[in-house]
Amino acid sequence: MPTVLVVEDEAAIAELIALNLRHAGFEVTLAETADQASAAIAAELPDLVLLDWMLPGQSGVALARQWRAEERTKPLPIIMLTARADEADKVVGLDAGADDYLTKPFSTQELLARIRAVLRRRMPEALDTVVELAALTLDPGTRRVSGQGVEVKLGPTEFRLLHFFMTHPERVHSRSQLLDRVWGDHVFIEERTVDVHVKRLREALLPAGCAAMIETVRGAGYRMTRQASASSAA
Ligand code: CA
Repeated sequence: MPTVLVVEDEAAIAELIALNLRHAGFEVTLAETADQASAAIAAELPDLVLLDWMLPGQSGVALARQWRAEERTKPLPIIMLTARADEADKVVGLDAGADDYLTKPFSTQELLARIRAVLRRRMPEALDTVVELAALTLDPGTRRVSGQGVEVKLGPTEFRLLHFFMTHPERVHSRSQLLDRVWGDHVFIEERTVDVHVKRLREALLPAGCAAMIETVRGAGYRMTRQASASSAA
């Protein structure tokens, strides 16, 4: 279930957004001020933030800038909410690092469409969309994986790992990046743990003939590729 932090000081609007998002299957946390938002972010990174422009004290734009400047919060998907329809403000919001921009009042359908679009772009592993890569198919809804007609049995960690790899293919991920994105924020485990689970994942993919799709990139980490070369299987 994707998590959304709603930062909005107008309680009626915040409650309405929360109600609609929960109804659509999102887990929602509310923050009324920049301080509350910072505390929520420090405690746990959500999959996406809906950030009101006008907040008492520090503004939403200042918060977005601050999050974009920090390593931990840099990849955080942000949608700015504002009552201003001014084109100049929109540019300021996007310059501050917002992924998208929504002018109040907006419909629930538009809000959900924008959230899904930003998640697809920035955090595709948070969505329940079926993912296909070469011969592999992964369905987050049913938690089923198959490759070339063979069902692949995976433990929960290997499933999340494969989901992340398949939604971010052809890119090298370091062990620490994998720990952050797959095991979760604030999890303190050794990087060697990643190797253990990658090994298990490859073993599980072997009967489907897809083990070689996960390549070891020496000195850098791991990469999932559509075009598996036989030499990288080991
Ligand atoms: Ca406001």
